[in-house]
Amino acid sequence: MTESGKAVTASAPADPGRLLEEAINNLSLGVVIFDHNREVLFCNKRYMQMYGLTPEQVKPGTPTSELIRHRLKLGLKIRTTPEDYIRERVGRDIALDTTVQEFTDGRIIAYTVRPMPDGGGIATHEDVTEREALHARLKQQYELVREQEEALRSRNFQFDTAINNMSQGLCFFDAAHKLIVCNDRFIDMYDIPPGRVGPGTPLTEIVDLRYEAGSFPAMSREEYLRWRTNVAVSNEPKDSIVELMNGRTFKIRHRPMPDHGWVATHEDITEQRRAEVKIEHMAHHDSLTDLANRVLLNERLEQALGRFQGRQMVAVHHLDLDQFKAVNDTFGHHAGDKLLKIVADRLRGLVRETDTIARMGGDEFVIVQAPIADPNEATSLAQQIIEWVCEPYDIDGHQACVGTSIGIAVSPGDGETPEKLLRNADLALYRAKADGRGTFHFFEPGMDEQMQTRRIMEQDLRKALPAGEFELYYQPVVNLQSSEISGFEALIRWNHPERGQVAPATFIPLAEEIGFIVPLGEWVIRQACLTAAQWPEHLHVAVNISAAQFRGTSLTSVIVNALAASGLHPTRLEIEITESVLLHDREATLAVLHQLRTLGIRIAMDDFGTGYSSLTYLQSFPFDKIKIDRSFVKDITENTGSLYIVRAVAALANGMGMAATAEGVETTEQLARIAAEGCTEMQGYLFSKPLPVGEIERLFLPKREKPAAPGRPQVA
Ligand code: C2E
Ligand code: MG
Ligand code: MG
Repeated sequence: MTESGKAVTASAPADPGRLLEEAINNLSLGVVIFDHNREVLFCNKRYMQMYGLTPEQVKPGTPTSELIRHRLKLGLKIRTTPEDYIRERVGRDIALDTTVQEFTDGRIIAYTVRPMPDGGGIATHEDVTEREALHARLKQQYELVREQEEALRSRNFQFDTAINNMSQGLCFFDAAHKLIVCNDRFIDMYDIPPGRVGPGTPLTEIVDLRYEAGSFPAMSREEYLRWRTNVAVSNEPKDSIVELMNGRTFKIRHRPMPDHGWVATHEDITEQRRAEVKIEHMAHHDSLTDLANRVLLNERLEQALGRFQGRQMVAVHHLDLDQFKAVNDTFGHHAGDKLLKIVADRLRGLVRETDTIARMGGDEFVIVQAPIADPNEATSLAQQIIEWVCEPYDIDGHQACVGTSIGIAVSPGDGETPEKLLRNADLALYRAKADGRGTFHFFEPGMDEQMQTRRIMEQDLRKALPAGEFELYYQPVVNLQSSEISGFEALIRWNHPERGQVAPATFIPLAEEIGFIVPLGEWVIRQACLTAAQWPEHLHVAVNISAAQFRGTSLTSVIVNALAASGLHPTRLEIEITESVLLHDREATLAVLHQLRTLGIRIAMDDFGTGYSSLTYLQSFPFDKIKIDRSFVKDITENTGSLYIVRAVAALANGMGMAATAEGVETTEQLARIAAEGCTEMQGYLFSKPLPVGEIERLFLPKREKPAAPGRPQVA
């Protein structure tokens, strides 16, 4: 060991001792060697630098307590008082001990004391400020990393939870078409056995597993792979809907990723699709029969018209059931619905794959027969339909019968658009119904015009009543025995503002069809009663009543009200009905007739011989009068057939105590014949045409001022 005074000298001769001293002086550690008295033996330069000491302050023999005090002055942080601290440091035995000392200026010094064999010690001071700072920074960074890892771990956990609880299947593939990750739902959706798919599984293998499980679309494995691969390499987002052979439908959303891999979500839209299909079906079908509805019919018809050109034709059959209302009325709507379903089934059995049957609502159906090469094909289908539909129906043990009328329009001749064809088939249907139902009719040019006329007439009719355009004419009825007028038949006339006078044959059938006959008939009854009430009391008034009036609002109350309002005695009113009145709802009609009869009203059977001429009708009700139709009277002088009929009917009437009236007597020969055959009354141009009330009163009735003596004009 060298002399401490020399040890601190900067320049020293180059002997080994000095070299060692030089080395110690240049250590990065401050070194202090002290003896067993705790007095400095040696202190290196670094130590002096560290604490800003002069060689004098550390010269050999300086008590180490001085060095400690100096350090305290420099700001060494301690927990006790300086004196206690010094005492404690120098008082203890010298033993190996390391402490880290912090200074108020921020320096950190690692301080180590080692004992020496002679009882002294060596103390080293190392400035570890930077190391400690570094350490602190590292620690801080480590903490940060740890926190981030923790956050990531928890995020991963959340992510895992999220993707495994998604309702959609999710999978990520890398650029090599190998699976990076997929969720459980994905595996589940495709019925892939557990444990067979994981990170790294190639797409081809997953597809194989799906083909084994049956969860693949209707294409070969190769086709499917080619398709999915094309989607993948296109690097474009793509949404596709895939229908699997197991009946499920998936929506696959493919989204490319920047590294040429992709992420895809697989959504099971089977239920949604089923609902959509159902809604779509409902939008295009009739719910009762499951036949096409109007919307689908139009689509199909349009398609057919677009597809079949050249020599091929399309036939549109418009069907309307006959007597369907009766089924509904008799057996109820439930039975009516059942019948419609059976009709639908029967129709299905008659058409081809390419044809379309639609229900247009109610009891109307349309069949599009497409293609046909000849209108005869439409004829034969229509005939079959008529034949099949009129077969009896067994509905809950009851037998029901309906028929059908059919109108047919054939493209291109009858129209080239759905609207035109449907309209023309409808016009033809109208004709078929007018022809007596249970028949079919092809569209003919001109029907359109007739329909147009009809429509205009319908509108005019409805306006005519409030406009006061109707008028009653009266035709005298003459008693052949007394040659006196027994009464008058009220016959309606329409004074149309443009068309002039319109005969009832032109508008009554339409009025009946559209139900307008009910208010019109009521007007006739009221008017006739009011007029007749002014006439001498022995004169009757006869009013024609249509079948529809029996079905409308209570006919009895209409009549009773009219009688009451006019003051006409019921026995002076006669109502004329035709056989058609007894065709439907016979029981109900007969009940009304009996009611009227009880009131004293007379009932006549009009136009006898033109309809069914059924004797059972005559037997079913005690008519007061039979009116023999004009057609028999017309050729009674030439046609023996007519003569016999008149004779038979007159005999029947007389036998049953009814009056027999001959209608339409125009000549004296006819008059002589009908009188000879037993008719008791006549009506006809021979005596008088129907005339306006003013004319009637002027010609046939006594002047008002002499009401006691009614006129008695002579026949012929
Ligand atoms: P209808 O009840 O059989 O009436 C007799 C028809 O024969 C009347 O025709 C009358 O003008 C006509 N006529 C009378 N005598 C002769 C004749 O000698 N020669 C010819 N050629 N014809 C004769 P109109 O007035 O045109 O009435 C036709 C039909 O219209 C009536 O037949 C009746 O069924 C119906 N009708 C008339 N008015 C009404 C009404 O107010 N209500 C209802 N529901 N139907 C009515
Ligand atoms: Mg009549
Ligand atoms: Mg008649």
